[in-house]
Amino acid sequence: MWTAGHPEQAQRDRYGGARSAQSRAQFPSCEDGRVTDQNQQLPSRRGVRLPAVLAERARTGLELIRSRRLRDGAVPSRGVAFVGTVWAGGATEPSFGLVVVDGAGRVADLRAERGGLPSDLLVLGGVNHWVVPALVDAHVHLSQPADGKSAALTGDWPTGLETGLVGLRDLASPLRQALSWRTGHRPPTPGWPVIAVSGPVLTAPGGYQASCWAGGGAEFVTSPVQARWAVQRLAADGVDLIQLGLDPGPSASPTPPPAVVRAVVSAAHAAGLPVLAHALSAELVGRALDAGVDELAHIPTERLPAALIERIAGSGMKITSTLQLFFSSGYGRDAAANAADLVSAGVPLLYGTDSGRSGAAPAVDPRELDRLANAGLGRLGALRAATELSAGAAGMRRRTGRLRVGEPAALVLLPTSPLVEPGVWQTPSAVFADGRLTVSPNAPDHRAVRPAATAPAGPPPDLPAAGPRGAATDQGSR
Ligand SMILES: [Zn+2]
Repeated sequence: MWTAGHPEQAQRDRYGGARSAQSRAQFPSCEDGRVTDQNQQLPSRRGVRLPAVLAERARTGLELIRSRRLRDGAVPSRGVAFVGTVWAGGATEPSFGLVVVDGAGRVADLRAERGGLPSDLLVLGGVNHWVVPALVDAHVHLSQPADGKSAALTGDWPTGLETGLVGLRDLASPLRQALSWRTGHRPPTPGWPVIAVSGPVLTAPGGYQASCWAGGGAEFVTSPVQARWAVQRLAADGVDLIQLGLDPGPSASPTPPPAVVRAVVSAAHAAGLPVLAHALSAELVGRALDAGVDELAHIPTERLPAALIERIAGSGMKITSTLQLFFSSGYGRDAAANAADLVSAGVPLLYGTDSGRSGAAPAVDPRELDRLANAGLGRLGALRAATELSAGAAGMRRRTGRLRVGEPAALVLLPTSPLVEPGVWQTPSAVFADGRLTVSPNAPDHRAVRPAATAPAGPPPDLPAAGPRGAATDQGSR
């Protein structure tokens, strides 16, 4: 059974942590984060070989653990069907059925019955399974080390696909790194999620975030003219969005003044780029709103007055959650209260974990989903935030967070209901995205029925867990 963190942490969270009561600081200090060693050699994106790893698992005899490219044009007999409670995303309601994906990787059918499926169709899932759109994390830092080493530097970190993440929005990375990961209009590198990037965060000279994002992760904007030039250069280099740092931090560092903020936003919009601001106080959220900033990177941690909540709601601004990060560092109570007010006012909240900054590699965090649920969205609403809404985050491309006939499939097969047990996201049974099926080596069991023609009509029974060979093969998977 999954629980919300360590008992001691839960206790801290309940009482808001020590720092929130006594400090004007609204964010964990930079010392809480980690700084990338820029001297390390960066691998190319092609250096990541997750599919080969999974292919090796298949070769060692674990029949259902594999990652394969489905052939183009083999419609639909060489596709795959996912069986279970299907939630197609958006405002739809979950109901039992099948999602049929064709050989080109598109959703060919959403149906209630198995009858009439081609006999050679691979069928995955069962009565207890859920089939849902895969998630998008709208706030990650791929350039930041996780667990003592930079995930992006090692080449063997979970890419996201096997964890159920099919989209990431990377913030405040040095430009060269960011552009090496960026997906843009191309399909993602096989086995990787779609990645949108901001490149360096723009902030005031001596700004707080410059100390957080040493080594090219932050860039100074000194005047409206220079700010426009900086934005135009980032746009020409190909970033997907502009990130603006409006946070004085614990030592009241300078923040970009209103004229510079306006210049950044107008230059970005003129270049067709949205602007995401890191602003945690009422004053700086107001400054962002005045300038027409499109999104906030965090739920603010200073309690926002009702009038400001209404203003945010009226502006169309979206806000990425990162609530668990705040709870983990003692700033959760006011952020959670703001989140509840924002949800009540109808402000769209997106799912984001600040992974990298939070010390964890990109993966679905069930605690973040529950923080969103507890803000008033409920567990299904939290999933909608992490799928359809996060897929629409500023700068994200190629994902819809929905399962719709005719569209490319990006879905997850979960072994049980994510509404009953959000922790199930830590062990997805299978992920399908970009024409590629990945059956997770971390799934507690691997269930499949094949072929469709020899199985009885109706939902297939769940098969028992993989045997000792599977358990042996799973060792050392991370
Ligand atoms: Zn962050």
